[in-house]
Amino acid sequence: MEPQKEARTPGDPVARPSGSSRSQTPNDEERREGDTAPAEASLGAEALWELPVEPAERRPECSRCSRPQKVCLCPFLPLHPLHISTHLYIIQHPAEENKVLRTVPLLTACLPQDKCKVKIGRRFSEERDPELSTVCRKSDTLILYPGAEAANLEEFILDSPIYPSTIIIIDGTWSQAKDIFYKNSLFRLPKQVQLKTSISSQYVIRTQPTNRCLSTLECAAAALSILEKNNYIQETLLRPLQALCSFQLQHGAQIRLSKEHLLKNGLYPKPMPKNKRKLRKMELLMNSVKI
Ligand SMILES: [Zn+2]
Repeated sequence: MEPQKEARTPGDPVARPSGSSRSQTPNDEERREGDTAPAEASLGAEALWELPVEPAERRPECSRCSRPQKVCLCPFLPLHPLHISTHLYIIQHPAEENKVLRTVPLLTACLPQDKCKVKIGRRFSEERDPELSTVCRKSDTLILYPGAEAANLEEFILDSPIYPSTIIIIDGTWSQAKDIFYKNSLFRLPKQVQLKTSISSQYVIRTQPTNRCLSTLECAAAALSILEKNNYIQETLLRPLQALCSFQLQHGAQIRLSKEHLLKNGLYPKPMPKNKRKLRKMELLMNSVKI
């Protein structure tokens, strides 16, 4: 769980249609992907002065997968959006929207627009978002958030008299997701479910707290394949993530081992925290106790 800088101050939730473009700067993209260093950087001030004035170059972005065109992942996306009957709501923490390596644009590119909605914000209420409020009050809506109260999704659908029509997933770091879940009473209205899965995350280029933590795309892929009773959905949704990871690894990204793995193998690179609560969390991770 890494502390994240807030990209924005808390504001009204913003609804964003799936597949819309991002507000990310091209410089961030270049820095993170290690693609090019601008040639001007090595020139002196005088040489810069002599250069013809050109408008700042923006890296063209693919309108479907939101990746820079040079590293477009569309060949790994299904030709047409997947047919699903479940409605998916992604509640995205504002800081997540500006991350370079995000999985939600890949998810929205694979799903029909009317079945996958992304809501950005930290605070949601009846007044601010009546649509979301209605969704949360419906008896066939689920929220994917792990915990003692959460039912195993696979078992839940076997016993439930009402088949779920909608699932809500929170997109953010673990602490951001926790903040969103506990500070918005709306999200405690739907039935809380979790994935009991033995698979490890394939999203190896971003540090996850434990080996079993999945990215938002992986959670959505697993949940939708269970709800739709169709494993092809999971395979199809994971394909662009695998391509993204292998591309990043080929271009110098390092496999980020989970904090759990680093701690258990004595490889954790930072000093242990002095704060007792944080230290206790680390010990729990080392002993593989669910946090
Ligand atoms: Zn693309």
